Amino acid sequence: MSDMLNWLAGAVGGTYGNFIGGEWKPAGDKTSQIFNPADRDQFLGRFADSGAAEVDEAVVAAHKAWLSWRQVPGPDRGAILFRAADLLEQRIDELAFILAAEQGKVLAEARGEVGRAAKELRFSAGEASRIDGDVLPSEKRNGFAMTLREPIGVVAAIGPWNFPVVTPVRKIGPALAFGCTVVLKSSNLTPWSAVKLMDVFRDAGVPAGVVSLVLGSGRAVGEALIRHPLVRGVSFTGSTGTGVAINAEAGRRLVRTQLELGGKNPAVVLDYDNAATIARQIASAAFACSGQRCTALSRIVVLEKNARELTEALEAEMAAISVGPAWQAGATMGPLITAQHKASVMGHIAHAREDGATLALGGTSMEDGDFARGHFVAPTLFTGVAKTSRLALEEVFGPVLAVVPVGSIDEAIEVANSVEYGLAASVYTNDVNLSLRFARESQSGMVHVNHGTASEAHMPFGGVKASGFGAYSIGHSNQEFFTTVKAVYFQS
Ligand code: NAD
Repeated sequence: MSDMLNWLAGAVGGTYGNFIGGEWKPAGDKTSQIFNPADRDQFLGRFADSGAAEVDEAVVAAHKAWLSWRQVPGPDRGAILFRAADLLEQRIDELAFILAAEQGKVLAEARGEVGRAAKELRFSAGEASRIDGDVLPSEKRNGFAMTLREPIGVVAAIGPWNFPVVTPVRKIGPALAFGCTVVLKSSNLTPWSAVKLMDVFRDAGVPAGVVSLVLGSGRAVGEALIRHPLVRGVSFTGSTGTGVAINAEAGRRLVRTQLELGGKNPAVVLDYDNAATIARQIASAAFACSGQRCTALSRIVVLEKNARELTEALEAEMAAISVGPAWQAGATMGPLITAQHKASVMGHIAHAREDGATLALGGTSMEDGDFARGHFVAPTLFTGVAKTSRLALEEVFGPVLAVVPVGSIDEAIEVANSVEYGLAASVYTNDVNLSLRFARESQSGMVHVNHGTASEAHMPFGGVKASGFGAYSIGHSNQEFFTTVKAVYFQS
């Protein structure tokens, strides 16, 4: 048996409550169960199904904690976060097993996510020592003026199921660095990772109430958090529809939002030396996390003259993808999160066929043998996808890649921009002027020249159009969300 299955055998089946005011609370009568998406017979645990009362308890504790946390010197707050980053790395095996078990991603990806969370957390920890402010001349004699940045207060952090470790850390890290406190609502499909993260922050020395976790559904917990009068900001990662609804609700109280939403990210292939190199990068950016990534590449916009060669290179690359459960040695792609989500992805595949796209590879629900126990879909490639078809325009959030052939560079850029989303875009070209043109004209928050859509731990992360709203996360841009400016005038 693999290390992961061995470990899980002794770890599954627990019952977990909320972490509020620095204490684990009993789960209470109402709970939800979660199962492994690669093996729906494997029961993982029971988690509190909380409501407005628990949200109120957590937010009140967070507000009380904020009054003293904001007074802790920035470098001291940072030191605690550096310790938390070390703990993430020390606990990487346990966290990766849990993450892989509840989310489905393969172990190498799960470990990569935990490592990535530690890296981002270290950047946030450093931010606590470099909060900006200006000193300016005054209009008056013997005076000067300055700006201070102050923490906004209690932040509601609401996360999705596809990155249950890095997304909460991406919110908690900067919030704490800038002097805010946090109540986290993780996705109710992936609550176990969030539970373990609370232990990491507590053991690193985060004081009681500075970080809390309330487990439960979007309707019961998420909505109560957004409406709570002591919550001053909402950092949300999830679907565009939910983000728009949250923003409308938060706007009624003038509460600021930071929204990271959906994407339909293009790889625009204009010229290249070696099709195989590009295909490798595109496949990795398309099928990591089974395509359930907001920044997954999901359409390849390629000049007609190169479409065939690139398609063949992609087919070769995709043939090497090994689908299987996280614990299977050599598996490189896991299942989808739920049966319902799998049905949605299969629906997109059926529509693409009806719309006349050519199925080059995959397109099947994997049901043979052990695959029947999980939500597996074969890596899928469609060619000849019309630029106005649903597959070219809608987010699938699964292992489905569309090749959209175009006749010119102008048309390639127009097609890349002709979707409602604007998160990440890749361009492949050896022509520096073309890469600069694409960087200028691409309607996306992040542009990658000659590589896939992987972001870095110190760079702003976010999208335009239906892909995001508010300050970008990860980078120094976070300061715009987690702090407000105070203008101070001096005269002697
Ligand atoms: P989702 O919108 O269904 O849920 C996200 C979170 O919001 C969950 O915790 C959910 O319980 C909560 N929620 C649901 N309804 C709510 C409400 N009315 N009020 C408050 N909270 C509510 O998204 P998902 O299915 O978990 O995630 C997939 C989506 O997330 C995809 O569209 C993907 O593109 C997007 N995503 C974006 C990014 C990014 O950084 N841009 C990253 C990851 C995922």
